[in-house]
Amino acid sequence: MRVYVAGNITVDETWSVTDIPAKGASVHGYQRSQDIGGKGANQAIVLSRCGIETCLIAATGHDSKGKWIRQQLMNEPVTLLPTQPMTALSDTSLILHSADGDNAIITSTSAADALDINTLSHHLASARPGDLLVQQGNFSPEKTHALFSLAKSCGLITVFNPSPVHAAFASCWSLVDIAVVNQHEAQQLQPRAVKTLVTTLGSAGAWLTQGDQRTFCPAQPVNATDTTGAGDTFLAVMLASAILRGGEIDALALTHASQAAALTVSRHGTRQAFPTAEELAALLQSGGEPAVI
Ligand code: ATP
Repeated sequence: MRVYVAGNITVDETWSVTDIPAKGASVHGYQRSQDIGGKGANQAIVLSRCGIETCLIAATGHDSKGKWIRQQLMNEPVTLLPTQPMTALSDTSLILHSADGDNAIITSTSAADALDINTLSHHLASARPGDLLVQQGNFSPEKTHALFSLAKSCGLITVFNPSPVHAAFASCWSLVDIAVVNQHEAQQLQPRAVKTLVTTLGSAGAWLTQGDQRTFCPAQPVNATDTTGAGDTFLAVMLASAILRGGEIDALALTHASQAAALTVSRHGTRQAFPTAEELAALLQSGGEPAVI
């Protein structure tokens, strides 16, 4: 089973500031790190580190950042499509990380916007029935809906993580098999009639809802230093856990996901904070007890 992740890829610049600036404020800060990021890339990288055959369909720009992204991705077991840059600037996320551990993020979408539905369809053409298509909220609602429609017509399993949230994403639910939402997205989009719904609650854990059945999975207690990418790690490891055991999303998949997300939040940065392939292998082989890594 192959996973196609259609979404964005960015250069993440993480800045440390004492507090997130208010409107009109001018503050000092320092750049803590530069890394690959973007929800599409994050989820694809973690899935591929779990040993899942993963294609990331995401646009890089015709600039030095795009070149850097493509070089960096060669160190990951993920296939990037298209291989060539788009005629656009690469996308960037400016992450402000405040002293109390909170963050605020600004993301550009020039490259993601340049990836049109024809190009997306072309790169999805090699997918087989039963493969997965994962999307996040960095494409327009129209493009997101059109790609899910195509995926369903090809017999793919569809996964939606509608972040950043847009009210019009609610029109996609009838095309979605697995939804992963945080509390804010759940409130705004009211996902209904989705076979598998996972609602994440940050450090409070996550709920799995399948029909009338609800299962709670607590978060792993950890000294959180940077929560960037927690949701992406959670989603990717949850899917990988289910795929590797050939089954549905279940309580063990959520336990594996929360263990992996705890590793991510205990470290600084984006990709550099994600669990390594070795850590993920140990974790995914465990039956949910704390993995020996
Ligand atoms: P983000 O957009 O910041 O990546 P999100 O809003 O999509 O995250 P969250 O609900 O914040 O997702 O977190 C997803 C999962 O990550 C949680 O269900 C939990 O298992 C884990 N997690 C998040 N924050 C913490 C924390 N402070 N301590 C331990 N685990 C955490």
